[in-house]
This record gives sequence, structure tokens and C-alpha cells, in this order.
Amino acid sequence: MADFNHTFKQALNGGVRRFFTPQNYRVTHHLEDVRSLEPLVAEYDLIILDRDCTLQPYHGRQRVADFEPILEKIAEKAAIVSNSDFEEFKRIGQLYGHLFPIHKLIGISEEPESTFLLNYQNGEISLWYYNPPQHMLHDATPEFLEGNQFKEGVTITHHYKKPDPLPLRAVRDLRIHRKKISPINPKILMVGDSYWTDIMAGNLAGFDTARVVPYMPASQPFVLRFLKTPLDSVAGYVMHRRE
Ligand SMILES: [Mg+2]
Repeated sequence: MADFNHTFKQALNGGVRRFFTPQNYRVTHHLEDVRSLEPLVAEYDLIILDRDCTLQPYHGRQRVADFEPILEKIAEKAAIVSNSDFEEFKRIGQLYGHLFPIHKLIGISEEPESTFLLNYQNGEISLWYYNPPQHMLHDATPEFLEGNQFKEGVTITHHYKKPDPLPLRAVRDLRIHRKKISPINPKILMVGDSYWTDIMAGNLAGFDTARVVPYMPASQPFVLRFLKTPLDSVAGYVMHRRE
């Protein structure tokens, strides 16, 4: 729960005005759940996924069996952008990392002015220095990581979280850097359940957006089911009508 409280605070710090900008709530595709991505797969070069309440329940410990076929289908084009802390990021990596990469954008103690993208894929964590204005990346793994852990003395000083569009842009730029997608007008889709994090981040990044109905079994935390998620949905509905 601390995770999403922190996300909320950071979102507020990022500027209240964007929460009152109807264009930031724009949804290109309204979906029942991730399985409805099927007819859209061919349209996009990169599909960035939210995890909690999109692919599985909040901080769930296993994948959802019903979603396996669509995950296999989009694996080549997909990535997850996580708003969670480093420990949770590693758990997500263990769950999904052999299907597609998991990402998290951070600042670290050694270079407080710089931005770094974590990449968890096939059991390996790498760290990429990221220069946003120049869309430039280089592999900083040997410098700061050893055996999937930060070297002694290296700590995470900042977590860049959705609705900040920077983590999404970093993922796009890493794909371009690795020549997985074209640098010229790649078609990118941000998929998630939350207007305030996923949909807003997608719009601020200039990508298409797909909103899924929050995947939320009855066992989910009270605050999430009866406060955060309904508020988020109502805000999305109201802002759509204003556009
Ligand atoms: Mg979510």
C-alpha cells in the first residue's frame, strides 16, 4: 500500500494541473481486460504494460492463467514499466522476465544528476545510463551492479513513477538503441487500469493508450477497491465528458 501512496504523492509533486487537463485522460482503446489486446497487436511496435490490476491482482505472487495466451502473443513487443520499489521490481522480473523485459527508471547515489533505466530480462538485471534530451543510452551495468545487486555503497535515490512520462520514453529509447524498433514514428501503446498513472503517463509521452477494467478480485485491499480505484475511474469518466 505504501507504494501507491508514494506514487500519489509524487504525482502531485509533478504538477496538479495535469490532473485537470482532459487530454491527459484520452483513451485510444477501452478494453475489458488484457485479452482484448489481441486484435491490436499487429498495429503496434511496442506495448508497454502496467502490472498491478492490469496483468494480475495488486502485488499478486503469480500470473493469471487466463492471460497466458495473450502474454505469449505480445511477448516480442511487450515490456512492463513498474512503479514499485527495487525488491518488488525483482519479484516482477522473476514472474514475467522470461517473457519480456521489466523496467524501472531511477536515480542513484553515485550520479545524483543522472537517470538510469533498470532492465530485468531472462534472469539478468542490467542498468542503462539514460540521457533524455539526446535519447541516448549506454550500459552502466558493470559499473554499478554485480550479480543482480547494486554494488556496495550504491543506493537508489529516486524512483521515477507514472504519470511521469519519462520511464515510458526511456523504454522506447532503449528499444530504439537496441534496434528492436524503428526510430521513425514507432507506434507505441501504453496499457493500464489507472487513469492517474498509466493513461496520463501514456498521453504525456505522446503514445496511444488502452485502458483495461481494473482486475481486482474480492480479496484486494479495502482502500484500493473502495477508494482509490473508484475515484480514479470517476475522474476518468468526468474528464472524458469535458474533452
Ligand atoms: Mg495498475
